[in-house]
Amino acid sequence: MNTDEIMQLSDKYVMHTYGRIPLAPVRGEGARLWDAEGREYLDFVAGIAVNSLGHCHPAVVQAVQEQVARLMHVSNLYYIETQARLAEILVANSCADRAFFCNSGAEANEGAIKLARKWAKKQHGPDRYEIITAENSFHGRTLATITATGQPKYQKGFEPLPQGFRYVPFKDLTALTAAINEHTCAIMLEPVQGESGVRPATEEYLTGVRQLCDQYGLLMIFDEVQCGLGRTGKFLAYQNYGVEPDIFTLAKALGGGFPIGALLAKETVAEAFAPGDHAATFGGNPLACAAGIAAMQTVLNGGLLENCNQVGAYFKEKLQGLVSKHSFIKEVRGLGLMLGLELTVPGVGFVNACRERGLLINCANNTVLRFVPPLTITTGDVDRAVAILDAVLLEQPA
Ligand SMILES: *Cc1c(COP(=O)(O)O)cnc(C)c1O
Repeated sequence: MNTDEIMQLSDKYVMHTYGRIPLAPVRGEGARLWDAEGREYLDFVAGIAVNSLGHCHPAVVQAVQEQVARLMHVSNLYYIETQARLAEILVANSCADRAFFCNSGAEANEGAIKLARKWAKKQHGPDRYEIITAENSFHGRTLATITATGQPKYQKGFEPLPQGFRYVPFKDLTALTAAINEHTCAIMLEPVQGESGVRPATEEYLTGVRQLCDQYGLLMIFDEVQCGLGRTGKFLAYQNYGVEPDIFTLAKALGGGFPIGALLAKETVAEAFAPGDHAATFGGNPLACAAGIAAMQTVLNGGLLENCNQVGAYFKEKLQGLVSKHSFIKEVRGLGLMLGLELTVPGVGFVNACRERGLLINCANNTVLRFVPPLTITTGDVDRAVAILDAVLLEQPA
């Protein structure tokens, strides 16, 4: 099929939940994508931080090919070798003691919410269920996770929403302290907010949140679905801040492009889940976990964290170089290869102009150009991307 045919078929039969961009990639390799007409794109979206190893990384392709022919699925009623091995890798490289596997970020956060409530009821009694989250956060699209998400635009039209969530401004310890009450059981945050436009927390803030959690007996939950797994230059984003959560969630990059999510927790918290309390039919299936093992071994042992730090610093400096050249750039933010360029004008026109020149980027929260390329990119890729961006910014002053 050619691009027009793919677009027509999709528009006719698929629900219109996405404002689609007129591009239909059919093949990918590393940081590059091709459409049906053979046009090449440099991919600085990477599935929105999913394809952190680049497209079709050979280690993931091989692991999936071998596992798909051996065993795709068995019930979680049985023991699953790849699931246990992936859990071991995640535990060995984090503050957590145990993992639960699911299929997406929203599902991981649902699990975190359920675990926090279960733990709090056991620990403190029946009236402790409220979870405090941040304004402009993003935690997913299920009913509980749009409610956890501190942005009314994701909730509108889906009322009645589940009870038990409260919102505070991000990075405001005074507001957070004031929001804690006799019903609070947890505080849930993204160490680096993604969808609201790449907004990193500060060490002072997260240290303060940790102290409040310890003081009031609350759980600290980190949503690392976007910022985790090497994206910020550390394996987990919280490792940049010198604090440890009680629960954290993963998804996006966990399968190297294959769908898988996870919820991790310290033993004292994880033990609140008894057999029968939580489950996912497809969660932690042999195939997804084989992809996850290959992806995580590559992130941890393949020099990706080092590359992310080096090329990320190079990229950030290049972006900073654009600030003085273009009056409508407000600021450059981010860690590692999770970077944002906040504009004083809407970003969509620049996104489209970049695509026409062969560079894929996206725009978060209307005015922030977001860059989450594969962690494998080179300084040469960055030079090319920044040259395109610079030309586009010059050509289209707002
Ligand atoms: C993408 C994302 C989610 C939701 O993940 P899905 O796999 O789309 O359900 C949750 N939290 C954060 C921070 C995300 O970026």
